[in-house]
Amino acid sequence: TNTRTPLMAGNWKMNLDHHEATHLVQKLAWTLKDGGHKYEDVEVVVVPPFTDLRSVQTLVDGDKLGIRYGAQDVSAHDKGAYTGEISATMLAKLGVDYVVVGHSERRQFHAEDDALVGAKARAALGGGMVPIICVGEGLEVRKAGDQVAYTLAQVDGAYDGIDAEQAAKTVIAYEPVWAIGTGEVATPEDAQEVCGAIRARLAELYDDSVAQAVRVLYGGSVKSSNVAAIMAKPDVDGALVGGASLDAEEFAKIAQFQ
Ligand code: PEP
Repeated sequence: TNTRTPLMAGNWKMNLDHHEATHLVQKLAWTLKDGGHKYEDVEVVVVPPFTDLRSVQTLVDGDKLGIRYGAQDVSAHDKGAYTGEISATMLAKLGVDYVVVGHSERRQFHAEDDALVGAKARAALGGGMVPIICVGEGLEVRKAGDQVAYTLAQVDGAYDGIDAEQAAKTVIAYEPVWAIGTGEVATPEDAQEVCGAIRARLAELYDDSVAQAVRVLYGGSVKSSNVAAIMAKPDVDGALVGGASLDAEEFAKIAQFQ
């Protein structure tokens, strides 16, 4: 047992315009309400594309929904000549609570390395938001049995320059790349192995109170049918959900895994 509130975050990736976003968030809120969802027991976060954030903010604020929302990325820079980038200040102004940083799709398609991921995490923290720092190995690394060392090296890189007080506020998502969008879910034991190793590393980098405060999520083909077994593991505090978060009823079931 621990005092960490489970966190279920839905990463919509590059899907849904702002009308569709409004529809999905409303449907999710109604479905959760029908299921008697208590947001203080399980936090529910949607992570839409940037262009939907204003609409989601208006809906969440206006209808006083318990759902929170995040962004999929943030610039490492404060402001200025960075065409196409979005700053932490801009996101904070839209009521954003969470920022996903270092998602494997950004590492892969935008060549983001651990230093940049760390800079983005610091930018999010500087803006008063919580970075969800994504780490996880690819298939070759997994086949070689090096998943723990590989993932911990990403953790070391991302937390370089983050002090203990800030580190305690962060969230980590362990997302083995071979399990993302493939339908190939890690076993609960696979998830626990690496999530537990991540928590132990936080205790080494900082101290036990930081390690106990940080929520470590699992991500990779999470569905309502497999979430409960993964959540039963002691070092898994939630899930980062891609595909299944685009279906309100399915995502509500995931959030109500208990
Ligand atoms: C993700 O994008 O973070 C993810 C885990 O995707 P999926 O659930 O679709 O595997």
